[in-house]
Amino acid sequence: MKIYAVQTGSVRIKRSQVHGRGHGLRRRLRIFTDSQWTAWLPTYAWMIDHPEGIIVVDTGQGRHLLDTARSLHPYLRWEVSFRVEPDEEIGPRLRALGVKPRDVQRVVLTHLHVDHDGGLAHFPDSAILVSRRELQTAGGSIGRLRGYLPNRWPAWFNPIALDLAAESFGPFAASRRLTRAGDVIAVATPGHTADHLSVMVMEDGITYVLAGDTSYTQALMLAGQVDGVSADEATALATLRALKHLAAERPTVYLPTHDPESAERLSTHRVIDATRPDAARSGRATV
Ligand SMILES: [Zn+2]
Repeated sequence: MKIYAVQTGSVRIKRSQVHGRGHGLRRRLRIFTDSQWTAWLPTYAWMIDHPEGIIVVDTGQGRHLLDTARSLHPYLRWEVSFRVEPDEEIGPRLRALGVKPRDVQRVVLTHLHVDHDGGLAHFPDSAILVSRRELQTAGGSIGRLRGYLPNRWPAWFNPIALDLAAESFGPFAASRRLTRAGDVIAVATPGHTADHLSVMVMEDGITYVLAGDTSYTQALMLAGQVDGVSADEATALATLRALKHLAAERPTVYLPTHDPESAERLSTHRVIDATRPDAARSGRATV
């Protein structure tokens, strides 16, 4: 088994989205008054070359996102911008790795935000797994009001709704095995969205956390710093703490979608040293 980091362009957002400030609705509205952008951040998807078949986690950004500056949705119009070259979409990226998208058996989405489902069009022949409730949250006109783009899902998009069982995984309450070997597991990591999930991959005694947007960087997770978009701050914080507990229990490589250091941590198998007294203060956000 091997995990590949697949960069699908980059994104920039407001600093107060990465690093939530204040509480409640004010925290979430702050993004709209913040004039400070982050640096350009990578948007990763992941390919797991697994003996039971290739699994892709998230599909990254699509070129169609380049027109969001004209969107009617205020978040998409003003608070985020994207860069995606034609050969940076996940289809060409996988082909460059020697994999045809039709050879991907399954695609698992951590959540349905536009920079995670933006490459869906490349996978008409794959089984696509999405949390059942995330699908409900993102769909229809209510989903569009929430900043999702269900109107840009491919016409054939008919995902398999994933229900995570009440089967704990370490400090997490709900999970579901995705492979017979039990070495790839979807785990409920609510917060950034109410039904956000992460994918845990176990190999050679290391747990790789394909974390989606549980936090924007590892340092922010260790610091228990909730982002600026999570609706339920307490739930988001509980997930960050569970991730930190996981890292204290077992060697863990933490791989958020937008952390500029994720690819290097993956290639060097760099685990979190959660026992270090300064782990919680290990630097500021890198953006
Ligand atoms: Zn997101």
